[in-house]
Amino acid sequence: MAGVGEKPLTGRLKPGGEALDISEYEVYGGYKGLRKALRMDPSEIRKEVKEANLRGRGGAGFNTGLKWSFVPTGKDAPRPKYLIANADEMEPGTFKDRLLLERNPHLVIEGMIIASFAIEAETAFVFLRWEYTLAAKRMRKAIAEAYERGYLGRNILGSGLSIDIRVHVSAGRYICGEETALLNALEGRRAIPRSKPPFPQTSGLWGRPTVVNNVETLSNVPHIITGGAEWYRKLSRSGDGGTKLFGVSGRVKRPGLWELPMGTTAREILEEHAGGMADGFSFRCLMPGGASTEFICEDGLDVKMDFDSVQKAGSRLGTGTMIVLDHTVCPVAALHNLERFFAEESCGWCTPCREGLPWVARLLGAIEDGKGETEDIETLREHTGSLWMGKTYCALAPGAMEPLKSGLAVFREDFERHIREKGCPLKMERR
Ligand code: SF4
Repeated sequence: MAGVGEKPLTGRLKPGGEALDISEYEVYGGYKGLRKALRMDPSEIRKEVKEANLRGRGGAGFNTGLKWSFVPTGKDAPRPKYLIANADEMEPGTFKDRLLLERNPHLVIEGMIIASFAIEAETAFVFLRWEYTLAAKRMRKAIAEAYERGYLGRNILGSGLSIDIRVHVSAGRYICGEETALLNALEGRRAIPRSKPPFPQTSGLWGRPTVVNNVETLSNVPHIITGGAEWYRKLSRSGDGGTKLFGVSGRVKRPGLWELPMGTTAREILEEHAGGMADGFSFRCLMPGGASTEFICEDGLDVKMDFDSVQKAGSRLGTGTMIVLDHTVCPVAALHNLERFFAEESCGWCTPCREGLPWVARLLGAIEDGKGETEDIETLREHTGSLWMGKTYCALAPGAMEPLKSGLAVFREDFERHIREKGCPLKMERR
């Protein structure tokens, strides 16, 4: 889009919070990426996106162009094929996709059309969390506008290409954000994950080749096609291409969301963009990418926020939306709250997760209430092993164990004091 500069996703948002309508979007160069894409071969689009090193913004960080390249293409490929925008944003502390859905819906739609063309899909779905009622309304309006202007439907812009987009509002479960559980939900089945392989790229929705991409991921695609892979890579300060929507929640001066170069340090996001800690509160630690990531403390704040750097620092970039804990937050209570959430959101399909997560939540609750025993710490630590990667059917339980595993190490003294002093030291100090 013209004039977006270093902020391709948010550079033209309206300050009042309204959505860009189709005319405004076109004035800023909207649908230019689609016009260019239609003159390209789908394989060239896949190559450009792969070279841009656009890594999946839902948290997994897989190279998007590479993911697309696993879809069978050509005249003998199985059909129909599907593209799904995963808008089931339900990770605690994460609110980045909502901004794009509500305020730049045509960017999401243009990304979906180009992605559908790249994998030769004729039908695309926006799989939307049901609580996002404003996003649903604005996406539906924008889709109708795109049909009217000939960007969707039969014979798009006279190219012979036909693509339809439908909005599916989900019943709302955390597990629906997992791509194979999402596919089951979209088919009208119970939202439980499927075993992989086969991967959705070869056997997805109704057994047909399907790509599931995050909303932010898809929103980058029009700009990669317009500006080229090299331009896009240079927006970043690290090896991962482009910019990223980074968010901060907690007791900081300016909680919010900013589009910044991939590789911006956690310290810069926290201190410059979020304005540092609010008066009267001191920094204790943060979770860099939502509720299922490990804690980073003061000595780790200079980490570059990109997938590989955060992993090397012992955590995960996840969704890039930080949760900050200050000195007044009891880490045991915070972990209890998180684990209760994950236990409630377990789909119940596999025993370790279905039985283990409620057990973890109960133990944390007991420690928080001053009814914990010294051996509970070791029991919790053992659970982080028995619910780890490879022990459960999907990544929900291992994701729930990431903050617990790291919390047991970082806040060991807090756990011990809760047990020794039979209650929360912070609560007792406040009495
Ligand atoms: S790990 Fe949990 S959410 Fe995932 S399949 Fe097993 S029970 Fe379901």
